[in-house]
Amino acid sequence: MNETSTAARRLFGEHFLHDLNPQELEMLDKVRRLVVSHIGPNAHKVAEKDEFAWDNFRLLADEGVIGSAFPSEYGGTDARQVLRIRVIEELGRVCSASASLITGADLSCRAIVAGASPQMKSALLPGLRSGQLQAAFALTEPEAGSDVRGLRTTVRREGDQFVVNGRKKFITRGTTADWFMVVGRSEEAPSSFIAVLVPRDAAGFDISPEVDKLGWYGVPISSLEFKDVRVPTGNLLGKIGDGFELAQDALLRARIGHAAMALGRAIGAVEIAATYMNDRTLFGKALGAHQGAQWMLSDMVSQVEAARALLSVTAQKYDRGDDDVAVYASMAKQQATDLCMKVVTDALQLTGGRGYLKDFPLERFFRDAKLNQIGEGSSEVHKTVIGRDVVRRSGSAQRNPSLREGSLVDY
Ligand SMILES: Cc1cc2nc3c(=O)[nH]c(=O)nc-3n(C[C@H](O)[C@H](O)[C@H](O)COP(=O)(O)OP(=O)(O)OC[C@H]3O[C@@H](n4cnc5c(N)ncnc54)[C@H](O)[C@@H]3O)c2cc1C
Repeated sequence: MNETSTAARRLFGEHFLHDLNPQELEMLDKVRRLVVSHIGPNAHKVAEKDEFAWDNFRLLADEGVIGSAFPSEYGGTDARQVLRIRVIEELGRVCSASASLITGADLSCRAIVAGASPQMKSALLPGLRSGQLQAAFALTEPEAGSDVRGLRTTVRREGDQFVVNGRKKFITRGTTADWFMVVGRSEEAPSSFIAVLVPRDAAGFDISPEVDKLGWYGVPISSLEFKDVRVPTGNLLGKIGDGFELAQDALLRARIGHAAMALGRAIGAVEIAATYMNDRTLFGKALGAHQGAQWMLSDMVSQVEAARALLSVTAQKYDRGDDDVAVYASMAKQQATDLCMKVVTDALQLTGGRGYLKDFPLERFFRDAKLNQIGEGSSEVHKTVIGRDVVRRSGSAQRNPSLREGSLVDY
């Protein structure tokens, strides 16, 4: 790392940097400098404006950060997750909207990278990488959120076209995306899912105005409606029947990203609370000298470091292609996002009335933290995934050596 980042010592450990090679450290250092010079100082304005964060999107695209999600043959750097979690954490430390530009690139473009035809890849990926084009990921529906297999949108083949009918909701970048990755159910074989690319100007495709929400200002969402929308068969992603797997593949990367974003925000909240604890004097001494406040801070820091370690293991698993990475991504996402909500709440408590004011970042962090517990699979959904996996594996796993033979039910 160059002087900019090493000069000011950080509150949280830099141990994870040992995982990165010199080029990766250079990229992280660049992001750190952008955070200090531009993204941090402008975070409040981005949220206040509550429009898609175009300036930051173009800046991160021009600096090659968006490109870290794309393969090198299309001008990207196909960065390892061990780097990407550090980049997203860094952005999440100051600005959720900016961190979501990176997780959003994974969510909306991954299926195009993984499943588009060579012609579509050549036509779209360079523009998506450079920020001249944008894509959106359209999975959730009025009847299918957590229960994602309940999709009612249909896709049927007619000659050399696919015809899409249905509705989607909560779609990030609905008002700004040029292309939509839409997952629906095959009309001919309803247990089969199909993913297609729909351009925003397709006849019969309606995009609602932006929908107001609690937080994540600068990250607009919309509802979509498809009435006999026709796209060429060349817009198919993967094969017929691959739609669900392509969506899960994109969500896996985005979940790792959401965990990193939540941990970045938690780090930011601790930094702010600790600064306040030094500045604020009450009952004759600094707030930070009161043991009760120190204990709150202690829980926050230790738990954030533990969750960072879990996320690092998860990123390594992704980079190696371990087959249990999805369960680890669920663990990391659930732990990091639930923890972030708690840490931000406690940080706000520690900063008293000051923390509650709009010009102070914690108010924004508090509203933004909630979304990470809901999007990309809610905490409850991830707990179900993790618990189900443990129960399933325990049937064939090594039995605890202190147990006697036979059923534990009998005695
Ligand atoms: C700001 C924002 C941006 C989004 N962006 C996108 C996007 O770009 N693309 C997209 O496709 N979707 C997007 N989503 C949708 C998001 O992924 C869903 O909101 C999420 O999957 C949850 O679905 P739901 O809202 O329908 O909640 P529901 O499925 O109705 O769940 C309601 C509650 O029930 C809980 N629950 C569910 N199942 C169980 C269970 N078995 N046991 C116990 N509790 C359970 C859930 O955890 C949740 O708390 C976005 C949502 C938001 C709010």
